[in-house]
Amino acid sequence: MGFRSSSEGAEEDTCARLASERDIARRVRITFREPAMFIVWGTKIKRRRIGRVADFCSVCHAFRAFHLVRVGAAGHVYHLSFGSGQLVGHEIVCESCETPAETRFERFAGVSSDQALPLDVLIRETQPDLAERCAERRELEMRVGAGQASEAERRELLMEPFMLVNPMLEQQQATNALSRNGRRAAAVMLLLLVGLMVVMGLPGSGEGREQVGAAVGIAFMISFVVFLGFWATSMRSFVRTEVEPRIVRALDPFKPEPEELAGILEHLKAGGLVSGRRLKSERLRAAFATHALTPGPGPDARAA
Ligand SMILES: [Zn+2]
Repeated sequence: MGFRSSSEGAEEDTCARLASERDIARRVRITFREPAMFIVWGTKIKRRRIGRVADFCSVCHAFRAFHLVRVGAAGHVYHLSFGSGQLVGHEIVCESCETPAETRFERFAGVSSDQALPLDVLIRETQPDLAERCAERRELEMRVGAGQASEAERRELLMEPFMLVNPMLEQQQATNALSRNGRRAAAVMLLLLVGLMVVMGLPGSGEGREQVGAAVGIAFMISFVVFLGFWATSMRSFVRTEVEPRIVRALDPFKPEPEELAGILEHLKAGGLVSGRRLKSERLRAAFATHALTPGPGPDARAA
Protein backbone atom coordinates (compact mmCIF):
# COMPACT_ATOMS: atom_id res chain seq x y z
CA MET A 1 0.00 0.00 0.00
CA GLY A 2 1.67 3.25 -1.11
CA PHE A 3 1.78 6.38 1.00
CA ARG A 4 2.63 9.95 0.05
CA SER A 5 3.78 12.93 2.03
CA SER A 6 1.07 14.83 3.94
CA SER A 7 1.52 18.12 2.08
CA GLU A 8 1.33 16.46 -1.32
CA GLY A 9 -1.68 14.43 -0.20
CA ALA A 10 -3.45 17.44 1.32
CA GLU A 11 -3.08 19.44 -1.87
CA GLU A 12 -4.35 16.56 -3.94
CA ASP A 13 -7.21 15.96 -1.51
CA THR A 14 -8.39 19.58 -1.73
CA CYS A 15 -8.27 19.64 -5.52
CA ALA A 16 -9.97 16.27 -5.90
CA ARG A 17 -12.62 17.23 -3.40
CA LEU A 18 -13.44 20.50 -5.14
CA ALA A 19 -13.72 18.75 -8.48
CA SER A 20 -15.88 15.96 -7.14
CA GLU A 21 -18.19 18.26 -5.15
CA ARG A 22 -18.66 20.50 -8.20
CA ASP A 23 -19.56 17.41 -10.13
CA ILE A 24 -21.98 16.32 -7.42
CA ALA A 25 -23.59 19.77 -7.29
CA ARG A 26 -23.99 19.74 -11.07
CA ARG A 27 -25.65 16.34 -11.01
CA VAL A 28 -28.00 17.35 -8.20
CA ARG A 29 -29.03 20.39 -10.24
CA ILE A 30 -29.61 18.23 -13.31
CA THR A 31 -31.72 15.86 -11.25
CA PHE A 32 -33.98 18.64 -10.00
CA ARG A 33 -34.24 20.63 -13.22
CA GLU A 34 -35.90 18.09 -15.48
CA PRO A 35 -39.51 18.46 -14.40
CA ALA A 36 -41.14 17.56 -17.71
CA MET A 37 -39.66 14.06 -17.96
CA PHE A 38 -42.09 11.28 -17.18
CA ILE A 39 -39.30 9.08 -15.84
CA VAL A 40 -36.40 11.02 -14.40
CA TRP A 41 -33.15 9.33 -15.25
CA GLY A 42 -29.92 10.56 -13.87
CA THR A 43 -27.53 9.93 -11.10
CA LYS A 44 -27.94 10.41 -7.41
CA ILE A 45 -25.10 10.69 -4.99
CA LYS A 46 -25.26 8.17 -2.16
CA ARG A 47 -23.09 8.35 0.92
CA ARG A 48 -22.56 5.32 3.13
CA ARG A 49 -20.49 5.14 6.29
CA ILE A 50 -18.14 2.18 6.10
CA GLY A 51 -16.23 2.48 9.36
CA ARG A 52 -13.94 4.64 11.48
CA VAL A 53 -10.41 5.87 10.83
CA ALA A 54 -8.00 8.28 12.51
CA ASP A 55 -6.63 11.41 10.80
CA PHE A 56 -5.68 15.03 11.41
CA CYS A 57 -8.54 17.54 11.47
CA SER A 58 -7.57 20.99 10.21
CA VAL A 59 -10.64 22.55 11.86
CA CYS A 60 -10.02 20.99 15.31
CA HIS A 61 -6.21 21.22 14.87
CA ALA A 62 -5.82 17.75 16.40
CA PHE A 63 -5.79 14.04 15.63
CA ARG A 64 -9.38 12.88 15.59
CA ALA A 65 -11.58 9.87 14.94
CA PHE A 66 -13.42 10.17 11.60
CA HIS A 67 -16.26 8.36 9.89
CA LEU A 68 -15.04 7.00 6.57
CA VAL A 69 -17.75 7.49 3.97
CA ARG A 70 -18.09 5.80 0.59
CA VAL A 71 -19.48 8.17 -2.04
CA GLY A 72 -21.31 6.50 -4.91
CA ALA A 73 -23.37 7.70 -7.88
CA ALA A 74 -26.46 5.55 -8.30
CA GLY A 75 -28.81 5.44 -11.28
CA HIS A 76 -32.41 6.01 -10.26
CA VAL A 77 -36.01 5.94 -11.46
CA TYR A 78 -38.64 8.23 -9.94
CA HIS A 79 -35.91 9.51 -7.57
CA LEU A 80 -35.70 6.05 -6.01
CA SER A 81 -32.27 4.48 -6.21
CA PHE A 82 -30.99 1.12 -5.15
CA GLY A 83 -27.64 -0.11 -3.92
CA SER A 84 -24.58 2.01 -3.15
CA GLY A 85 -23.96 3.06 -6.75
CA GLN A 86 -20.77 3.38 -8.72
CA LEU A 87 -17.83 4.47 -6.61
CA VAL A 88 -17.07 8.20 -6.94
CA GLY A 89 -14.62 8.53 -4.06
CA HIS A 90 -14.31 8.63 -0.29
CA GLU A 91 -14.83 11.27 2.37
CA ILE A 92 -13.95 11.49 6.03
CA VAL A 93 -16.19 13.29 8.52
CA CYS A 94 -14.61 14.41 11.80
CA GLU A 95 -16.51 12.96 14.76
CA SER A 96 -15.84 16.10 16.77
CA CYS A 97 -16.63 19.04 14.43
CA GLU A 98 -18.43 16.97 11.74
CA THR A 99 -16.60 18.71 8.90
CA PRO A 100 -16.42 16.52 5.77
CA ALA A 101 -13.28 16.31 3.63
CA GLU A 102 -12.28 14.36 0.57
CA THR A 103 -9.78 11.57 1.17
CA ARG A 104 -8.14 8.61 -0.53
CA PHE A 105 -9.04 5.15 0.69
CA GLU A 106 -5.43 3.97 0.22
CA ARG A 107 -4.33 6.46 2.84
CA PHE A 108 -5.51 4.09 5.59
CA ALA A 109 -3.87 0.87 6.69
CA GLY A 110 -7.25 -0.40 7.90
CA VAL A 111 -10.82 0.61 8.71
CA SER A 112 -12.34 -0.08 12.12
CA SER A 113 -15.93 -1.11 12.73
CA ASP A 114 -15.56 -0.62 16.50
CA GLN A 115 -17.52 2.52 17.42
CA ALA A 116 -15.91 2.77 20.87
CA LEU A 117 -12.25 2.27 19.97
CA PRO A 118 -10.10 4.92 21.77
CA LEU A 119 -8.26 7.36 19.52
CA ASP A 120 -4.73 6.03 20.22
CA VAL A 121 -5.78 2.49 19.27
CA LEU A 122 -7.65 3.79 16.23
CA ILE A 123 -4.50 5.60 15.07
CA ARG A 124 -2.45 2.42 15.51
CA GLU A 125 -4.95 0.33 13.55
CA THR A 126 -5.87 2.71 10.75
CA GLN A 127 -3.02 5.19 10.24
CA PRO A 128 0.02 4.21 12.35
CA ASP A 129 2.32 6.79 10.73
CA LEU A 130 -0.11 9.71 11.28
CA ALA A 131 2.29 11.65 13.53
CA GLU A 132 5.11 11.53 10.96
CA ARG A 133 2.77 12.44 8.10
CA CYS A 134 1.44 15.48 9.92
CA ALA A 135 4.70 16.64 11.54
CA GLU A 136 5.37 19.29 8.87
CA ARG A 137 1.80 20.53 9.00
CA ARG A 138 1.75 20.83 12.79
CA GLU A 139 5.07 22.63 12.75
CA LEU A 140 3.65 25.11 10.22
CA GLU A 141 0.61 25.73 12.44
CA MET A 142 2.89 26.43 15.40
CA ARG A 143 5.01 28.87 13.40
CA VAL A 144 1.94 30.69 12.02
CA GLY A 145 0.42 30.84 15.52
CA ALA A 146 3.65 32.26 16.91
CA GLY A 147 4.00 34.81 14.10
CA GLN A 148 7.16 33.16 12.77
CA ALA A 149 5.87 32.10 9.34
CA SER A 150 6.28 33.90 6.03
CA GLU A 151 3.39 35.94 4.66
CA ALA A 152 2.74 33.33 1.96
CA GLU A 153 2.63 30.48 4.50
CA ARG A 154 0.25 32.39 6.73
CA ARG A 155 -2.05 33.29 3.86
CA GLU A 156 -2.14 29.69 2.64
CA LEU A 157 -3.13 28.43 6.09
CA LEU A 158 -5.76 31.15 6.54
CA MET A 159 -7.22 30.31 3.13
CA GLU A 160 -7.56 26.59 3.87
CA PRO A 161 -10.88 26.53 5.81
CA PHE A 162 -12.53 28.66 3.11
CA MET A 163 -11.57 26.03 0.54
CA LEU A 164 -12.84 23.34 2.91
CA VAL A 165 -16.31 24.88 3.29
CA ASN A 166 -16.65 25.88 -0.38
CA PRO A 167 -18.05 22.51 -1.55
CA MET A 168 -20.51 22.56 1.38
CA LEU A 169 -21.74 25.96 0.18
CA GLU A 170 -21.90 24.81 -3.44
CA GLN A 171 -24.01 21.85 -2.45
CA GLN A 172 -26.28 24.00 -0.29
CA GLN A 173 -26.71 26.42 -3.18
CA ALA A 174 -27.61 23.57 -5.52
CA THR A 175 -30.12 21.85 -3.23
CA ASN A 176 -31.33 24.74 -1.01
CA ALA A 177 -31.63 22.14 1.76
CA LEU A 178 -33.69 23.23 4.74
CA SER A 179 -32.26 23.60 8.23
CA ARG A 180 -33.51 21.30 10.99
CA ASN A 181 -36.08 23.92 12.10
CA GLY A 182 -37.10 24.42 8.47
CA ARG A 183 -37.76 20.67 8.14
CA ARG A 184 -39.80 20.78 11.35
CA ALA A 185 -41.86 23.69 9.99
CA ALA A 186 -42.48 21.72 6.76
CA ALA A 187 -43.61 18.69 8.77
CA VAL A 188 -46.00 20.80 10.91
CA MET A 189 -47.39 22.43 7.74
CA LEU A 190 -48.06 19.06 6.12
CA LEU A 191 -49.68 17.70 9.30
CA LEU A 192 -51.98 20.73 9.47
CA LEU A 193 -52.85 20.31 5.79
CA VAL A 194 -53.79 16.67 6.40
CA GLY A 195 -55.76 17.76 9.51
CA LEU A 196 -57.60 20.38 7.46
CA MET A 197 -58.51 17.81 4.79
CA VAL A 198 -59.74 15.38 7.43
CA VAL A 199 -61.90 18.05 9.11
CA MET A 200 -63.36 19.23 5.78
CA GLY A 201 -64.01 15.66 4.73
CA LEU A 202 -65.99 14.73 7.84
CA PRO A 203 -69.68 13.97 7.13
CA GLY A 204 -72.41 16.37 8.28
CA SER A 205 -72.18 20.04 9.04
CA GLY A 206 -72.40 22.26 12.05
CA GLU A 207 -70.95 25.25 13.77
CA GLY A 208 -68.44 23.18 15.73
CA ARG A 209 -66.93 21.63 12.62
CA GLU A 210 -66.71 24.99 10.88
CA GLN A 211 -64.94 26.53 13.86
CA VAL A 212 -62.44 23.68 14.06
CA GLY A 213 -61.95 23.90 10.27
CA ALA A 214 -61.34 27.66 10.46
CA ALA A 215 -58.85 27.25 13.33
CA VAL A 216 -56.90 24.52 11.54
CA GLY A 217 -57.00 26.60 8.33
CA ILE A 218 -55.53 29.65 10.09
CA ALA A 219 -52.87 27.49 11.76
CA PHE A 220 -52.00 26.03 8.33
CA MET A 221 -51.64 29.51 6.79
CA ILE A 222 -49.36 30.61 9.64
CA SER A 223 -47.23 27.46 9.31
CA PHE A 224 -47.04 28.06 5.53
CA VAL A 225 -45.70 31.59 6.07
CA VAL A 226 -43.19 30.28 8.65
CA PHE A 227 -42.09 27.57 6.21
CA LEU A 228 -41.63 30.15 3.42
CA GLY A 229 -39.49 32.21 5.80
CA PHE A 230 -37.22 29.23 6.50
CA TRP A 231 -37.05 28.37 2.80
CA ALA A 232 -36.15 31.92 1.76
CA THR A 233 -33.42 32.21 4.40
CA SER A 234 -32.04 28.66 4.21
CA MET A 235 -28.69 29.75 2.69
CA ARG A 236 -28.19 32.53 5.24
CA SER A 237 -29.06 30.16 8.06
CA PHE A 238 -26.68 27.51 6.64
CA VAL A 239 -23.85 30.06 6.51
CA ARG A 240 -24.46 31.07 10.13
CA THR A 241 -24.88 27.64 11.67
CA GLU A 242 -22.62 25.46 9.51
CA VAL A 243 -20.02 27.62 7.82
CA GLU A 244 -19.07 30.57 10.02
CA PRO A 245 -18.52 28.47 13.19
CA ARG A 246 -16.16 26.14 11.27
CA ILE A 247 -14.15 29.06 9.85
CA VAL A 248 -13.90 30.62 13.30
CA ARG A 249 -12.88 27.35 14.94
CA ALA A 250 -10.25 26.67 12.28
CA LEU A 251 -8.76 30.18 12.23
CA ASP A 252 -9.10 31.30 15.85
CA PRO A 253 -5.62 30.03 16.87
CA PHE A 254 -4.07 32.26 14.18
CA LYS A 255 -6.00 35.42 15.13
CA PRO A 256 -6.66 36.70 11.59
CA GLU A 257 -6.87 40.47 11.13
CA PRO A 258 -10.10 41.87 9.60
CA GLU A 259 -8.08 43.10 6.60
CA GLU A 260 -6.69 39.60 6.07
CA LEU A 261 -10.21 38.10 6.07
CA ALA A 262 -11.48 40.78 3.69
CA GLY A 263 -8.49 40.16 1.37
CA ILE A 264 -9.11 36.40 1.32
CA LEU A 265 -12.82 36.83 0.57
CA GLU A 266 -11.99 39.24 -2.24
CA HIS A 267 -9.52 36.74 -3.68
CA LEU A 268 -12.08 33.90 -3.50
CA LYS A 269 -14.75 36.09 -5.09
CA ALA A 270 -12.41 37.02 -7.93
CA GLY A 271 -11.79 33.29 -8.44
CA GLY A 272 -15.55 32.71 -8.77
CA LEU A 273 -15.83 30.61 -5.60
CA VAL A 274 -19.17 30.47 -3.79
CA SER A 275 -17.46 31.08 -0.43
CA GLY A 276 -16.24 34.46 -1.73
CA ARG A 277 -19.78 35.47 -2.65
CA ARG A 278 -21.68 34.06 0.31
CA LEU A 279 -19.38 34.97 3.19
CA LYS A 280 -19.14 38.57 4.36
CA SER A 281 -16.14 39.93 6.20
CA GLU A 282 -18.30 41.98 8.64
CA ARG A 283 -20.28 38.85 9.56
CA LEU A 284 -17.07 36.87 10.02
CA ARG A 285 -15.60 39.58 12.20
CA ALA A 286 -18.76 39.48 14.38
CA ALA A 287 -18.56 35.66 14.53
CA PHE A 288 -14.94 35.86 15.74
CA ALA A 289 -15.92 38.43 18.37
CA THR A 290 -18.82 36.26 19.62
CA HIS A 291 -16.58 33.20 19.69
CA ALA A 292 -13.99 35.06 21.79
CA LEU A 293 -16.71 35.88 24.35
CA THR A 294 -18.26 32.41 24.46
CA PRO A 295 -15.75 29.71 23.49
CA GLY A 296 -17.71 26.50 23.36
CA PRO A 297 -18.39 23.37 21.37
CA GLY A 298 -18.07 23.19 17.61
CA PRO A 299 -20.64 23.95 14.97
CA ASP A 300 -24.00 22.30 14.66
CA ALA A 301 -23.69 19.30 12.49
CA ARG A 302 -25.72 18.55 9.46
CA ALA A 303 -26.90 14.99 9.22
CA ALA A 304 -24.50 13.08 7.02
ZN1 LIG B 1 -12.69 18.25 13.54
